[in-house]
Amino acid sequence: MDFDRSFDRKPTKQIMVGDVPVGGGAPITVQSMTITKTADHEATLQQIYALAGAGADIVRCTCNKPEAAEGLARIVPRSPVPIVADIHNNHRMALAALDAGVHCLRLNPGNITDPTKIKTIAKEAKDRNVPIRIGVNGGSLDSSLYDEDKGVTPEAMVESALREISYFDEVGFDLVKISVKASSVPLMIEAYRQLSEVTDYPLHLGVTEAGPPPAGTIKATAGIATLLAEGIGDTIRYSLTADPVLEAKAGRTLLESLGLRERKNVDLIACPSCGRAEIDVYKVAEDAMNAFEDREIPLQVAVMGCVVNGPGEARDADLGIAAGNKRGHLFVKGVNVAVVPEDEMVDQLLEWAIFLHEEGVEATMARAESTRDAARKAAEEDRARNLDERGDDANASETAIDLIRKR
Ligand code: SF4
Repeated sequence: MDFDRSFDRKPTKQIMVGDVPVGGGAPITVQSMTITKTADHEATLQQIYALAGAGADIVRCTCNKPEAAEGLARIVPRSPVPIVADIHNNHRMALAALDAGVHCLRLNPGNITDPTKIKTIAKEAKDRNVPIRIGVNGGSLDSSLYDEDKGVTPEAMVESALREISYFDEVGFDLVKISVKASSVPLMIEAYRQLSEVTDYPLHLGVTEAGPPPAGTIKATAGIATLLAEGIGDTIRYSLTADPVLEAKAGRTLLESLGLRERKNVDLIACPSCGRAEIDVYKVAEDAMNAFEDREIPLQVAVMGCVVNGPGEARDADLGIAAGNKRGHLFVKGVNVAVVPEDEMVDQLLEWAIFLHEEGVEATMARAESTRDAARKAAEEDRARNLDERGDDANASETAIDLIRKR
């Protein structure tokens, strides 16, 4: 079976959020939201640039008062990515955001409930070719849909979205994407599954109010990844109680891990360490992560604690380093290429990664021609020494198993 194959995706209509396509087979996009006051347009733009740099394709800003709409008028022309205006209960703010030139609106059907006002917004959005996200939220569901016995149900969330669509239909507006978020992962999964059965509008996935990382990141991933693996979802947002840059990074990492977006940054793999490790693997891995963080080097890089199993276990990585006897053994595509001092391991890893990325495998192997044989020999020596000193059973598990079996 081909495990590089991406997941089949449920066909949806395509809309354009500015110049970014959403749905209809377009690459799944990452969204995040600014936490600055939108009226403070310089601070907001700074955050938008940081989010775009971290992998956000689309950014949402609140438009909760006239000053925020004025901020949007200044932000939109200078933003590197399309801007979505988040509207709360005042429909006039939606109209003001359209005047500001935003690329999309987000309406919560639980907040603006008057059909006349909803239709007015849809008509104006239609005239300007601006899409709207129907953003149903389990925590702010229209009270008429709340079930006294069962509380918020997936059916009620889907019904809320369909009701909003019916208002849009009345004015011939169909530039729509939909979300049915909840803070409960099973509830949001079921709501999206049901919604995807009854509509082919593109879907925006998220677990709302997921909380601070790491628990929040895990909750959001559980919900979003489950749906993506079923082919549901066209755009995603992590709602974390943290710097929104982390949201954008998490979204990007998830899509890259699932093979749904091309890798932009390094994919760092590292061994979990064990009794055989010759370095502090956690620290070296963290230092490597920091060194690679802001560089667009789409390679898989390995940090391995020893040279006994390291190069073999990381054979599929583009390059990596394995520790041995106060030195690092650098390998490219499983071939030892150089030996470096322990305190230069991360710097050398970065330097070789840049070279490999810019010049390719052939040039890298040619660069290593004079050091390759000595590097392989040194790695073999350190491997033999480690096995000699720590034995085949560095964690003593086999010894313990022998004892158990003798009882
Ligand atoms: S055997 Fe070596 S590479 Fe594997 S976990 Fe232990 S230290 Fe890391």
